[in-house]
Amino acid sequence: MTPGTGCIFCRIAAGEAEASLVYQDDLVTAFMDAHPVAQGHVLVVPNRHASGLDELDDDSAGRMMLVGRRLAGALRRSGLPCEGVNLMLADGTTAGQTVFHCHLHVLPRIHRDGLGFRRPLGAGLPAGRAGLESTAKQIRESLNPGA
Ligand code: AMP
Ligand code: ZN
Repeated sequence: MTPGTGCIFCRIAAGEAEASLVYQDDLVTAFMDAHPVAQGHVLVVPNRHASGLDELDDDSAGRMMLVGRRLAGALRRSGLPCEGVNLMLADGTTAGQTVFHCHLHVLPRIHRDGLGFRRPLGAGLPAGRAGLESTAKQIRESLNPGA
């Protein structure tokens, strides 16, 4: 999707839709989440449309992380309530993605703010070192699909 074709984050990155900008460079744009779960909740998006991680180019992916890290430092120094930071990216509907232009959430955290992942019980997962090793092998073998 390209600017002008309806993707809200493409339109924000292009300056065509309203947003409260925090940072912009040649590869990424950071702006305030319109429905923040904490004061200072920022999104970092690639300027070029990518619906998810698969479509994202390496340079934009790297810059998103770099800018996320810089924003985490800025939040800690800003005077906003911030004792810790989560960087969070939802890739796919099942993972909680609702806007299909890839984005990194930068979330300031304070003690007992109630946010966070709930860890489900691992019932049924491969157990112990042997289980971890076999799962690691399965992932390793999929790292370089072309090789
Ligand atoms: P996700 O569930 O990870 O896809 O997150 C999408 C995020 O985008 C949500 O936190 C929304 O509040 C945020 N969002 C949606 N539309 C806008 C917008 N126009 N400007 C800023 N943030 C937005
Ligand atoms: Zn887009």
